[in-house]
Amino acid sequence: MQSRLTGIGMTSERTRIRMVERLREQGVVDETVLLAMQSVPRHIFVDEALASRAYEDSALPIGHGQTISQPYIVARMIELLRNGGSRSKVLEVGTGCGYQAAVLARVCSEVYSVERIGTLQENARKAARELRLLNLRFKHADGSLGLPEAAPFDGIIVAAAGMQTPPALLEQLAVGGRLVIPLGGRDQVLKVVDRTPDGFHEQTLESVRFVPLLGGLE
Ligand code: SAH
Repeated sequence: MQSRLTGIGMTSERTRIRMVERLREQGVVDETVLLAMQSVPRHIFVDEALASRAYEDSALPIGHGQTISQPYIVARMIELLRNGGSRSKVLEVGTGCGYQAAVLARVCSEVYSVERIGTLQENARKAARELRLLNLRFKHADGSLGLPEAAPFDGIIVAAAGMQTPPALLEQLAVGGRLVIPLGGRDQVLKVVDRTPDGFHEQTLESVRFVPLLGGLE
């Protein structure tokens, strides 16, 4: 029997190679990120009924009113996080189905991912186990509080948009570390914050669209 991991037709490695070609055309240049995107089977993170659409450049529903981010935004955010170098210990806020966390686990040595919806977090954990990603840890928690027990992080990626950067995330960013976060309500922009010995330096990049960063657990 064909393994779900190997994939066939629309879920095969060839389909992923085409996805990566598209990411290059869209301007992603970090080869480490592109290689990771080529190796992580995105279809195992979505419902079987949607598997054949997993490599389209679109966001797809994952239940609980949440979505899996489009491949381009995952690649772009990780490329921004790496900034041409490597990041060893990274926190992701908003695990969702766990796809971005899995790609992060291929390019960083230690990844922590926090999700406020318990069932999503459980599904993500199963997928990561299937892929044997041993350097990826999940926690069911409110990510606006960061993850104090594992801090400081040299990279933080937020996959949901708030109105401002949660102060705990800035506190838990190591000197030399970088935070990538979408901010705003209906009109959102991607922000990058670098922490240097003399403080925080912020840049505003392109417009984006993310689900809202919410408080409390479900
Ligand atoms: N990283 C995902 C995208 C998930 S969508 C991917 O790979 O496609 C964003 C997720 O953030 C949702 O699952 C939502 O439940 C979660 N979220 C929103 N606010 C949060 C918070 N305060 N803490 C943790 N997770 C949060």
